[in-house]
Amino acid sequence: MNTTKIGWIGLGNMGIPMAEQLIKAGYTVMVYNRSKDKEVALKEMGASIAKTPNELIVTTDVVIIMVSDNAAIDQIFKGAEGLFSVETSGKIIINMSTVSPSISKEMAMLCKERENFYLDAPVSGSVKQAETGQLVIMVGGEESAFNQVKPILEKMGKLAKLVGGNGAGNSAKLAINSLLALYAQGLAETVLFANEQGIGTDDLLELINNAAIGNIFTKIKGDAIIADNYKAAFALKHIVKDLNLAKAEGISSPLAETTLNTFADAAAKYGEEDIIAVVKQLKR
Ligand code: NAP
Repeated sequence: MNTTKIGWIGLGNMGIPMAEQLIKAGYTVMVYNRSKDKEVALKEMGASIAKTPNELIVTTDVVIIMVSDNAAIDQIFKGAEGLFSVETSGKIIINMSTVSPSISKEMAMLCKERENFYLDAPVSGSVKQAETGQLVIMVGGEESAFNQVKPILEKMGKLAKLVGGNGAGNSAKLAINSLLALYAQGLAETVLFANEQGIGTDDLLELINNAAIGNIFTKIKGDAIIADNYKAAFALKHIVKDLNLAKAEGISSPLAETTLNTFADAAAKYGEEDIIAVVKQLKR
């Protein structure tokens, strides 16, 4: 049994399987989610439930957050019942959500004023990798805090790497998701072109996945296109959020502009569906 008490905030597509890894590893876990129905599965696995973020931080040693965006982070820290609404010290708060480097720097500074520690630790990988503890975790913050929680992060990921000070984890993540958008649009356009030439999607994907350009992404998203199944593992609305964050950080290139336009169009219609539902928009 691990003695560190972990508080978990955010039980969406990623938060649920990630928190499950910690329960399976023997940690004592308390969870909080805005929508209470999503807490049930974790309770059945042995987690306790906090009514509010402030109850959660008081009761635990390490607080991990996995929510949508900057607005959600603002609410969780600064809301009436948020993490900053109660006095605490010595806590390590790990924000694994994909948010802007600037909000991480702000929250890190406010945590430090309260004698708590903040790490930004966004992840690469999706639901499948979260379910198997195979995420890649990129961390920004103080090395001593990182070293303390590294064993916890390694229960969720195959790699947990410190890349710089606060905000650096978020910057690395925005860079990676710019490539993710290029992959998704590239795969969708390739399938549509081949189909127009009379090549079936199954045949094309079999060729790609056996060729040097095949990878886990083309396998998983190719299967989704073949099955016509666009249930969100990573929602279109989230990639648009990330591409906008990258733009706000100064990314400027022909491909970055193209993918932002493409995914913004796709999200307007299919925002709750998976990133690869972009194929439906490009087909129109
Ligand atoms: P999701 O399924 O949309 O879940 C979002 C979570 O955030 C839910 O628990 C939601 O609570 C909570 N939330 C949203 N707004 C809130 C607010 N104002 N106050 C409190 N809680 C709020 O998202 P996800 O796919 O798990 O992704 C979570 C983060 O990981 C995002 O930043 C995403 O970009 C990133 N990410 C996702 C993937 C992926 O493949 N899905 C991969 C890597 C990184 P409710 O249940 O109440 O709505």
